[in-house]
Amino acid sequence: MTALSTRADLAVRGIRGLDAPVRRRSGAGPSDDGHVLIGGFGGAIPVRSDSPYEVSGNRLLMNGTDLGIDIEPVRRPKFYDLQTAEGVSYEKIARLHGSNVLATTVVQTCIRYDADQRCRFCSIEASLAAGSTVAVKRPEQLAEVAEAAVRLDGVSQMIMTTGTSAAKDRGARHLVRCVAAVKAAVSDLTIQVQCEPPGDLSSITELFAAGAESIGIHVESLDDEVRSRWMPGKSTVPLGEYRAAWREAVRVFGRNQVSTYLLVGLGEDPNELVAGAEELIGMGVYPFVVPFRPLAGTLAVDEDGAQAPSAALLEDVTSRVAKALWAAGMRGADQKAGCAACGACSVLQNAGG
Ligand code: SF4
Repeated sequence: MTALSTRADLAVRGIRGLDAPVRRRSGAGPSDDGHVLIGGFGGAIPVRSDSPYEVSGNRLLMNGTDLGIDIEPVRRPKFYDLQTAEGVSYEKIARLHGSNVLATTVVQTCIRYDADQRCRFCSIEASLAAGSTVAVKRPEQLAEVAEAAVRLDGVSQMIMTTGTSAAKDRGARHLVRCVAAVKAAVSDLTIQVQCEPPGDLSSITELFAAGAESIGIHVESLDDEVRSRWMPGKSTVPLGEYRAAWREAVRVFGRNQVSTYLLVGLGEDPNELVAGAEELIGMGVYPFVVPFRPLAGTLAVDEDGAQAPSAALLEDVTSRVAKALWAAGMRGADQKAGCAACGACSVLQNAGG
């Protein structure tokens, strides 16, 4: 397995001139990356012209020296070449992440996208503005694309995330309809849903009953000062609401089928970040620790000039969280679907988490 220090360095410094047919340029969550297999593990690696890393043949080089690590790009999936009867490219409805995950943002707009409310690291509406996706994915469109992705490309799990809607359920009800439609078309495709804590916790049971196997309720940081600085809109949802939603989700979905993102590099004290991750693990919630990624088109880059965290900080936090996960018997690979199961945006799997 690739050493944790090298994998952490790659996660923040990226690869120069990476020629990867499966890429994300903007959207919800981490983007501006190319998807590769590094020593057999999935990696969603930033593409950066200032990186000392590059790929030659199928080997990773640093400053021209072969590191002895195999790396291969994820191939372009066949389903990208199809379109719906109305002429919408499947690629605009759902995308391949890593080598086996189908990912979609079912509603590509967010009520929190005004400049004074928006999460400063997010570019969810940029891919919509660029015409590379459609605003709302209909359940039957997702079912059609999922069926093709499973049949043609061997996709084994699906992630449905959503921008936050103005309704009380914050978007959960549309997710319920999407999950049910996909499950009716491809029953053995495991699905993770991702949403804010739904105002009515019964939505969590509805998501499970529709067929979702795991759920991500992403807080990004457990530090209220960091939350209000980086996520002015989203931080108005109190941490108490997150804790209630996580508890209910663990009750419904089971231990280690619930996860949350924790971003490294927002300025939080690392010891507090690790302590917060340990609290989550104690609740049965998997803390998916990922480096903050400065993306072009986000307020973090355009206004704040924010930088990625150091590889040393990422390695330190990741190794401590992985140790706590290990002690609790929680592994990302044991999640039935979702980012923790994929692992490509984190380095936790390289640390044994
Ligand atoms: S970890 Fe999540 S966001 Fe990252 S590539 Fe995998 S599925 Fe996509």
